[in-house]
Amino acid sequence: MKKPMEKPAPDKKKKPFMRRKVCRFCTDKKMDIDYKNPKILRYFITERGKIIPRRISGNCAKHQRQITVAIKRARNIAILPFTTAVH
Ligand SMILES: [Zn+2]
Repeated sequence: MKKPMEKPAPDKKKKPFMRRKVCRFCTDKKMDIDYKNPKILRYFITERGKIIPRRISGNCAKHQRQITVAIKRARNIAILPFTTAVH
C-alpha cells in the first residue's frame, strides 16, 4: 500500500516577532529613556545583554540611538551587564 506523500506546507508561518509600527517611546511619552532605569533598558537587550536591533525592537532611529547610549552608560556604571558570562 502506498501512502500519499505529504507535501510540506507552503510557508505561511506568522512573523515570529510582534512588529510595532511606531516605537514605544514615541507612543508613550511618559516612558523616559533613562540609563538609571534598567527596567526599561531591559526591554531592549537580550538575555545575554546584547542590544536588540531596531528592526526587531521597532524603535524609531532617534529613540534607538538614545537606547543604545543609555545602555552603554548603564553598563559603564554596572547597572547592566556587558554580556552575561556563560560557563
Ligand atoms: Zn521613537
